[in-house]
Amino acid sequence: MNPPLRIGIAGGSIGGLTTAVLLHELGEDVQVFERSLSALDGRGAGIVVLPITERYFVERGGGLGSSDREASEVALTLTNWSYIDRAGTIIDASPTYNRFTAWNTLYRALLDALPQDRYHLGHQVERVEQGGDDEEPVRVSFTNGDEYSCDLLIGADGMGSTVREIVSPETTTVYAGYVAYRGTILERDLHESTAEILDDAMVYQVLDDSHILAYAIPGPDDSIERGERAVNFVWYRNVEGTDFDDLMTDRHGDVRPTTMPPGLLQDRFVDELHSAARTGLAPQLRELVLGCAEPFIQAIFDMAAERFVHDRIVLLGDAATVMRPHVAAGTAKACADAWALRDHLRDRGIDDVGLRTALSAWEAQQLGVARSAAERSRSMGEAAQTLGTMAPGDPSWRFGLFGPGN
Ligand SMILES: Cc1cc2nc3c(=O)[nH]c(=O)nc-3n(C[C@H](O)[C@H](O)[C@H](O)COP(=O)(O)OP(=O)(O)OC[C@H]3O[C@@H](n4cnc5c(N)ncnc54)[C@H](O)[C@@H]3O)c2cc1C
Repeated sequence: MNPPLRIGIAGGSIGGLTTAVLLHELGEDVQVFERSLSALDGRGAGIVVLPITERYFVERGGGLGSSDREASEVALTLTNWSYIDRAGTIIDASPTYNRFTAWNTLYRALLDALPQDRYHLGHQVERVEQGGDDEEPVRVSFTNGDEYSCDLLIGADGMGSTVREIVSPETTTVYAGYVAYRGTILERDLHESTAEILDDAMVYQVLDDSHILAYAIPGPDDSIERGERAVNFVWYRNVEGTDFDDLMTDRHGDVRPTTMPPGLLQDRFVDELHSAARTGLAPQLRELVLGCAEPFIQAIFDMAAERFVHDRIVLLGDAATVMRPHVAAGTAKACADAWALRDHLRDRGIDDVGLRTALSAWEAQQLGVARSAAERSRSMGEAAQTLGTMAPGDPSWRFGLFGPGN
């Protein structure tokens, strides 16, 4: 049997935590370092649950959520995928099966599965060195002055990854030319006809060089009861050059390079959003956009590291590749990277060569997964935002990491 590896994980979100839980179970000596001073909070974000996202909970039994709640009680299911036109009439509808949970539900469940003393808040990785002696193959320094040595460091520190900037400074993050205006509104505040069309469906409207979708997600208290849920809209709109810089300057004059949090979008952009909603959107979707008190913005980027393994340092999840959101698989990819790493490390040979071989095989496998999903999400974005070829009812638009629907 292999002696336990000392594994440091930078980033304690979904990717870092899934990796930690799986490698801890394998018997490795795992420590997670999260820069945030307090436990993370998804602030009401709903995420699509793909099979790999909840694999851990399904295999361990009990389902996703705290131990006394079943999977069906923490995730809501939508069974229709509809397209509506400008008049609000359904022009295409087909069956689907999509489950949504609250980001917080997934995070809390993973956190519960890891011994508390292995999760360190307030630890922001600042420097990483490797290539020292056998006792200290990787040395990590934190902004709080702490230091830590390990056999393997995993960079699960998201799109702006410090670890990636250190090992792969040539990797660029490129703005895709459009942003997602997002927002939520409580289901109980909607007109009956709007609530009805969104009751059990993902609802899309295809516009010129743009598209919008809306769907129910868990409510403010992560509730999935009808009437207590929220409805989320995501409206993709093209914004170029200096207009983008303007848009991403908040109401206090601070530039927000990637996301504009709720409440900070300048009034003139909220007005412009409302005016565009009045002109172009179906009545049901217009109601969502006009009724949302604090829309926020997620700018869309492409980022793909050429390599995920740099000697004893591994990049995974969003730190390794950022896909456009159309496949709804960012969380799933982070989980898939973690599961594959678990499998390759479990089966590794006993010495240093065994470890390197395992990491290299993991990298080849996960580069393939990431490249194909990133390519699929990029072509979906181009079809909708520039080519005008997004067709209502096209089954290739189904969410999925490994392909439409899975
Ligand atoms: C509004 C919204 C909705 C989304 N919906 C979906 C969805 O439906 N389905 C889906 O699959 N994906 C969705 N995503 C994407 C998904 O959230 C990400 O792809 C996923 O969280 C990636 O996980 P990660 O652990 O790799 O990175 P992240 O979740 O970005 O976590 C990185 C962590 O690293 C920490 N960190 C950063 N730098 C350092 C440092 N130097 N030292 C220590 N810690 C550090 C950060 O604080 C953070 O906690 C959504 C994203 C957003 C913003």
